[in-house]
Amino acid sequence: MKNDKIYEYLTKVKEIYGDNLFLDSDIVKNLNVVNHKTHVFDNLSKIKNDVSNCLKCQLGKVRKNIVFGAGDPNADLMLIGEAPGEKEDETGEPFVGRAGVLLDKILHSIKLKRTSKVYITNAIKCRPQNNRDPLPSEVEKCEPYLMKQIQHIRPKLIVALGKVAGKTLLKVDMSLKEMRGNLYEYESIPLYITYHPAALLRNPNLKLQAWEDFKFIKKFLKDNI
Ligand code: URA
Repeated sequence: MKNDKIYEYLTKVKEIYGDNLFLDSDIVKNLNVVNHKTHVFDNLSKIKNDVSNCLKCQLGKVRKNIVFGAGDPNADLMLIGEAPGEKEDETGEPFVGRAGVLLDKILHSIKLKRTSKVYITNAIKCRPQNNRDPLPSEVEKCEPYLMKQIQHIRPKLIVALGKVAGKTLLKVDMSLKEMRGNLYEYESIPLYITYHPAALLRNPNLKLQAWEDFKFIKKFLKDNI
């Protein structure tokens, strides 16, 4: 790429983002200086390190492990759950309990798996004691980490699993029923909201609607990749 093009691009980026430099993958390929995957991964490592040291809310004092997120840093689909449970707190991995087993089956049904082109995280990174709902103040303090993860991964589609994740991203106090069924945007990335797998375990009648949602998600990804 010619220097004047690079200059024009960087000037535009500076206008929009100030001193934070986000390199577009095509530009990176042309510059031939940085491996894009490494760049994305390094940034996630830095955010993870910040979360590991986080004591912004009381959950930081009692956690065994942070549950940062896992999967493909170049994911097309980013799934966002609510909060780690007991097993996740033990292992540091998201969705490893019963809800996670169901989530894996749902992904399998649309020909995806959690390690490839999918990234899974939660609205908050530490376990609320006794699996209580996260407090709004805890969600608020953790949101900057989630936002940075989203900005670095920039998936083609974000799917919020359940009411807490949906409310966190939409900034509205609506029921899941009201939020579900529409395509929204978060940070200019398409956002869809569906049931949390734990809700499907509690109420199997919802599985049909969830299946409709995941068919939509599959089609959306097919049409937009
Ligand atoms: N429920 C969630 O919302 N996230 C997990 O990681 C596990 C269960």
